[in-house]
Amino acid sequence: MTTHREPLQSVLETIGETPLVRVHDSPAEAPVYAKLESFNPGASIKDRIGKHMLERMLERGDLEPGGTVIEPTAGNTGIGIAVAAEQLDVNAVFVVPERFSVEKQQLMRALGADVINTPTEDGMGFAIERAHEIAEELDGAVVPQQFSNPLNAEAHYETTAPEIDEALDGEVGAVVAGCGTAGTLMGMARYFRERDPDTRVVAVEPAGSAYREFLGEDVEHEPYKTEGIGTHDIETNELFDPDLVDEIHAIPDREVHEEMGRLAAEEGQLVASSAAANALAAKRVARGIRDGDVDAPHGNVVTVFADSSERYLSKGVYRDFEEWEG
Ligand code: PMP
Repeated sequence: MTTHREPLQSVLETIGETPLVRVHDSPAEAPVYAKLESFNPGASIKDRIGKHMLERMLERGDLEPGGTVIEPTAGNTGIGIAVAAEQLDVNAVFVVPERFSVEKQQLMRALGADVINTPTEDGMGFAIERAHEIAEELDGAVVPQQFSNPLNAEAHYETTAPEIDEALDGEVGAVVAGCGTAGTLMGMARYFRERDPDTRVVAVEPAGSAYREFLGEDVEHEPYKTEGIGTHDIETNELFDPDLVDEIHAIPDREVHEEMGRLAAEEGQLVASSAAANALAAKRVARGIRDGDVDAPHGNVVTVFADSSERYLSKGVYRDFEEWEG
């Protein structure tokens, strides 16, 4: 692992090579390891795709220096793109549904980006449409579109997965990750399935979210508080490949809230709701492997803790469940 002890020339060089840490509350025979993505400079896993998408688009000539990227985003991707954009001489504009965390929107603005809000009730689909409309009006503007851009999953195939592989000497039995765009899960699934076609791949979503419709299940759509994962409209997602996924775990907000508190109090992990959902699903998979109910080529179960709870303190993540605004 790179230690970053040598002087670096740009914050972009600090993206990735995050620590992989054991979740203590997981079985000895099937330990869960989580990649701590808040160690990135923009404090989330999305710095990886911000850097990767912009660098590749500039290399290919899809984007020119001095050009503009316009992205519909819940926040972390905006921060990740904004960190990279400033360093790569690209302007950034984000279209964000109002319900998403105010802290994230403040950080995007601080990083020099413009933020345009859309009504919460119009959903992410509307934010995506708005982004494309603005791009058409602006010269040299492109929409990276993380929900359909293969570069999103490729960032995880080229960085997140190999880092985990190296840390665990290739011994990975199951990959578990919450799906927002599903870029994280798809990139890791492709990498580890190439290494071993029996690697178990498990998607995670909040209860009330509709990813299970991809597997032909009927889902009761409900609002949920868990932030950064889940969907109410599987049509807007072009990355999720059901053929790569063994099962999808739907985790209720109440359990997520309790696990966020437990991870902080017992494990010193100040991680947000999607990380807590991942921890719960990964531990369930691990217990299944230990008990012989789940087939996997190895006991090690890996997941990601995508960002930190600090980013959501204003939403009351550590207050009583009813006070958590989600
Ligand atoms: N957790 C958080 C906090 C996120 O912001 C995101 C991205 N929306 C995810 C998890 C899911 O990552 P992906 O988009 O790669 O599925």
